[in-house]
Order: sequence, then C-alpha cells, then structure tokens
Amino acid sequence: MKRLFILAAACLIASSASAQSLYYQDKSNVDMLRHTISKEVLRNEFVLPQVNGYKVLKCDLHSHTIYSDGNVTPEYRVREAWVDGLDVLAITEHIEYRPSEGKMISYLKGFFPGEPNKPNGNILCDLNVSNKLATAAAAGYGITIIPGAEITRDQNKIGHYNALFVQDVNTIYDPDPAVSMKKAREQGALIMHNHPGWIRKNVDMIDFEKQVYGENLIDGIEIMNGWEFYPPIITRASEKKFFMAANTDIHGTTTMDYVAQGNHRNMTFVLAKDNSLEAVKEALKARRTLAYSLGSLAGEEQLIKDFFMACVKFETFSVDKNGKRTMRMINNTSMNFVLCFGGNPVELRPFTSRNVSVAKDKELVFTVENMWIPGDKKHPTIRLRF
Ligand SMILES: [Zn+2]
Ligand SMILES: [Zn+2]
Repeated sequence: MKRLFILAAACLIASSASAQSLYYQDKSNVDMLRHTISKEVLRNEFVLPQVNGYKVLKCDLHSHTIYSDGNVTPEYRVREAWVDGLDVLAITEHIEYRPSEGKMISYLKGFFPGEPNKPNGNILCDLNVSNKLATAAAAGYGITIIPGAEITRDQNKIGHYNALFVQDVNTIYDPDPAVSMKKAREQGALIMHNHPGWIRKNVDMIDFEKQVYGENLIDGIEIMNGWEFYPPIITRASEKKFFMAANTDIHGTTTMDYVAQGNHRNMTFVLAKDNSLEAVKEALKARRTLAYSLGSLAGEEQLIKDFFMACVKFETFSVDKNGKRTMRMINNTSMNFVLCFGGNPVELRPFTSRNVSVAKDKELVFTVENMWIPGDKKHPTIRLRF
C-alpha cells in the first residue's frame, strides 16, 4: 500500500513538472519565460488511399505570386502548399498581366512602363524567375513544382490558358494566342483551358475555343476554379478527352480564402506512379485526374467509382435469421461522401463508419451525391452484391 502511494506521488510530481515545462526560463533575461511549443510548421494531411495501383497526388495546377498579380512570394506559395498537404504545385503567372512587376520596374528604373497588361515591350524581367524560386524552395519540402505560365487574353473573346511543364516562359508570348499555345507546346507543355465560365453568361463554346479545340491544342480543362463550378464542362471534358482539373487560381492566401471558412483548398487529384514531373505529366496525358472543390468531386464515371471503392470499405457486421445483412461502411479517408439510398441522403464523414442494411439476395444500390460524372448534373450509382 505504501509502495503504491509512493508511485502515485511520483506520478503527480511528474505530471505537474510536465505541465510547468510548457514554459522555460530564458537564460539571457530573468524576467522572461519562453514557450516550449515548437516553431515547426505542421502539414495538414489530406488522407487518400492508392487507387488502381497509383498514388493519388494532391495537386494545384494554377497559382499566382507577386511576379504577376498575386500577393505573396513564390517561397510563401511553396510553404503554404506544404502546410495544405499538397504534393504538386504549378506556378502559373500571367504572361501579359504583371502589375506588381510594372510597379517594381517603375520604382527601380525611375520610369513608368505604361499599361502593364499590354505586352508592348514593357515586360523587361525574366519571366522564369518565379518558377525558379518556387522550384528551389520546394526542394526542401519534397513538393513537385510544375513550371507554368498563364496565357491571359480577353476572357469573352479568347480566354485564359495555362501552359504547364514549360521550359522558357520568355519565348511563349505572341500577339496571336493560338501561336502562344503552339510555342508552349513546342517546349513540351500541356495546355489547360482555365475557368471557362468566369465572367461569362454561360459556358457555350466561343469561336476561339472551337478553333483551338479543333487544332488539338488543349489537353485539360478546369471544372472548378476558386469558388466557381461549371457542371456542363464535365461532359465537355469527357467528349473532348481533356483531363479534368479543380484549382485554386490563388492570388491571396489559402488561409483567408479556404481555411478560415473551414474548407480545404481546391485540388486536382492526379493518379500517378510517383510525384516526378514525368509521372505527373504522363498521368495528365492519360487523363487519370479527378477535380475536388469544396467537398464536390468530378471525373469520369469509372475512375470516380474506382476512387470511391478504394476510399470506402464494406464489411459484414451481422446477418439476421432472415438473411438480412447489416453492412458497415468504413471511410478511412479525409473525403466526405453524401450517399443517397432511395431518396434519403446521409453523410459518410471523414474517418467514420456507419451501418446500412440489405435484404437477402438483394443489391445495395445508392448514388454518391457529391460526386459528379458526365451527363446532365449526374451522380454515379454504386451497385454492390455481397
Ligand atoms: Zn485566369
Ligand atoms: Zn490565374
């Protein structure tokens, strides 16, 4: 008994000591305590399983920094991507619109370079700088940087197009945007059609889109951009064989635009062998992508079903005397799924499970309402027989 008491007393002392150790005395200042919390920045993991033998890379294929019209440095973008749990980030400065640069040049050189959005010889800087700075910063984080650029023309007549995997942004500009795309393509770039519905009345195809689609200059398209979601584009992407993407097009910070409101930033899920540039490019060309934004996921029907079945495991919990089976659905991922069983939607939240019953010899049939597939606002139907 006495021995037990001594043990308990020892535990008490240990626990009070550990509570006090949150602060320690600063040796150089007797009146200052320092907190022991580590300054190490933690990464918020978005947990997903492998799908069809591929890693599911969390990618953002569209971002800006102070080198075009963004508010932060390329180095900040990289740290932010790491904290947000990304594997791959594309830096895609506007080629033709770099207002910060205009201001910097006017300050440094003592003259005002004119309208910064008119590329009339006023772009004096090396347009590869932000890609280089981000790539250097990312090496310490294990994040892959896709060097990119945004071909930025009149949204109503031409539109915006990201050139991804570029070699030299300085040589891409041409007054004819289709020629710009061809120049990027000659460098081995893939071209993504950005925010096809932004500031337009609808997503109907304009003449320039028909032209460049017809010339096979487009590889991918944004289904979601920032807070915008264009459901009809899922069908267009399927018909035209474009990879589907959801990106932030972030100019400010993801903390302000997503995290502070309880959301995760937009991501393009890329199913790739590994996170090398070659493997990511191969996966985009093969269209193994899903577009994730604010809880919704868009993609080709078979791929999105494979993704769902990799995320949610079904185990028999019990079988009653009539053969009615109670199944446990286990979601060990960061995805939230909205399942609809005959008109009743239920949520299968991240890292939770819930039960569902199925009569003897019957299929378990449900739709996943927050997953979107080609068709008129269509959701995939999952049929399972146990
Ligand atoms: Zn744009
Ligand atoms: Zn952009």
